[in-house]
Amino acid sequence: MKGFPDFKNLVQMSAARAADKGDAEVIAFLAEDGSREGALTFAGLDQAAKRIAAGLVDKGLSGRNLMLLYAPGLDYIKAFFGCMYAGCVPVPAYPPMGARDIDRLKRVVMDCDAGAILSSSMLMPMIEAWVANPGNGLSLTCLATDALESNTDISGFTAFDANPSDVAFLQYTSGSTGHPKGVMISHQNLIANFQQIVWTFAHSSDLDYVAPNYKTVIWLPPFHDMGLIGGVLTPVYAGAKVTLMSPLTFLKNPFVWLKTISDMGAKVSGGPNFSYQYCARKIPDEKLQELDLSTWQVAFNGAEPIQLDSLNTFADKFAKCGFDKSAFLPCYGLAEATLFVAGSPASRGAKSLQVDLDQVAKGKVNPDAPVAEDAKIASLVSSGVLAIETDVRIVDPQSGQACGTGEIGEIWVNSPSVAQGYWNKPSFSDSIFRAEIKGEEDSKQFMRTGDLGMMWEDELYVTGRIKELIIVSGRNHYPQDIEFSLQSSNPTFRKGCGAAFGMTEQGKENLVVMQEVASAAGDQTDYSRLALEGAKAIAVRHGITPKAIVFIAPGTLPKTSSGKIQRTEAKKLYELGTFAPLHSWESAAFQKV
Ligand code: ATP
Ligand code: MG
Repeated sequence: MKGFPDFKNLVQMSAARAADKGDAEVIAFLAEDGSREGALTFAGLDQAAKRIAAGLVDKGLSGRNLMLLYAPGLDYIKAFFGCMYAGCVPVPAYPPMGARDIDRLKRVVMDCDAGAILSSSMLMPMIEAWVANPGNGLSLTCLATDALESNTDISGFTAFDANPSDVAFLQYTSGSTGHPKGVMISHQNLIANFQQIVWTFAHSSDLDYVAPNYKTVIWLPPFHDMGLIGGVLTPVYAGAKVTLMSPLTFLKNPFVWLKTISDMGAKVSGGPNFSYQYCARKIPDEKLQELDLSTWQVAFNGAEPIQLDSLNTFADKFAKCGFDKSAFLPCYGLAEATLFVAGSPASRGAKSLQVDLDQVAKGKVNPDAPVAEDAKIASLVSSGVLAIETDVRIVDPQSGQACGTGEIGEIWVNSPSVAQGYWNKPSFSDSIFRAEIKGEEDSKQFMRTGDLGMMWEDELYVTGRIKELIIVSGRNHYPQDIEFSLQSSNPTFRKGCGAAFGMTEQGKENLVVMQEVASAAGDQTDYSRLALEGAKAIAVRHGITPKAIVFIAPGTLPKTSSGKIQRTEAKKLYELGTFAPLHSWESAAFQKV
């Protein structure tokens, strides 16, 4: 693309950066207290990747898919590039912590037919014990790449020179709606997505103008699309600098995130909607004077439904630290399109539409029409304009025909960053990645996102996922709206920590909500009263009465490792009764007499 560096593959990209900016620091990693734990220059990254690659080639692993099981940090990034230098395909994952992680990891290892597990010397005893456990039925080589890095002689080593269409890495989806699937991301997918991201964030096609200022701070998990591609690889592409910390550092103390932005004078940082909510809730007012957020020009927000309320609360609280709300950059993307599909124009801030909730439920809105006085209004936050070279169409998921203006339908994407398919699932991949619009001759091929939304005045509004839609009496309800209504009815309900889902009983869909309560809510809490008030709030706003509301302890709602709500999993737990409710409330309307 004109004005952007074009690289044949990521090895060439990293080697070129090492040649022209070798001594510049590209990545620093922070310890939990915010102090620097280590750093890498562009030349250091290139050298480490070569050493690791030479070791992998020596072990006969060229061409294989290799699992990366690291704690967030520099070893992981070196190994990621090391795999590509060796002609192996890295498969980012994370060390298993509990039974659910183990189950996920086993599925991924088997699904991608991993040739080995790469990790660090520190984690190796734990990983080896896990692999050796007969219950897991695995037989795999485990290698510590920090050991490979210090031992290898690289004098005769030549890095692998992949074709642009070769698979660069396998990106497993987050697992929000089911088992993760391995998306095959090619080198050209990545380069195209880097260009799209930088173009949007910089609002300029002149990369040289951008790079020196492109200072980023990232706490997102580096084994998922947003943390890896947005957080680590795009800065390497842009010749910029990124300061990383573990998601645990952020979760324990979100102040460290904002303080690092402040200290670094960073320009770009962000996270999903919940991270803005979390900062607003957790950071005490007396700490605000220590923050200067005036350099923060791109505060991206994606990966989850974006709530205007969260943005406003954050902007109000941090305005006194110099935070300018025009920095908000709501965006949309998914692993199947590498990462990024659309984002708000830089420096504009969030744009939202006030729409009639009743129209949203019926699937067609007209934001220009006057609304009735008693209408329930919803704010839809725009996920921005389409990335360069991207075509998005809104399509009726049943008929496959294009929707009209204001109609909510499935979001279909055509872009150079859309992947070829899922690893080892050819026919399923065809149905998702190569869809054509019915009734249109010579339709392009589109990737079906499984998300619903609409285009309005050239901007994309995402309303939610098809799989999570709750359809009661022919009206479509989105779980996040119902959760928000419940959570707004009483501060005891933790924001962003609820799951609404539909339960089909005797051919009828009923609403159930599982909701975390604040730790301060003690034994004396009158849960029945809270539930009744919450149910009323839902009924007034959405016109449906929940069949049940169940309260659970803080931190117990199923979430992905990237912090997304797993509503399907919550529903499964509810159906099986395998969770520990603090209180279960059932509406009188549903109780048998
Ligand atoms: P899985 O596919 O395994 O269920 P996942 O879809 O959460 O997991 P990702 O590819 O990491 O995995 O996430 C992309 C999804 O996140 C999108 O398909 C969409 O549902 C949601 N998402 C991303 N950006 C937004 C946004 N701006 N508004 C609403 N939802 C968003
Ligand atoms: Mg998905």
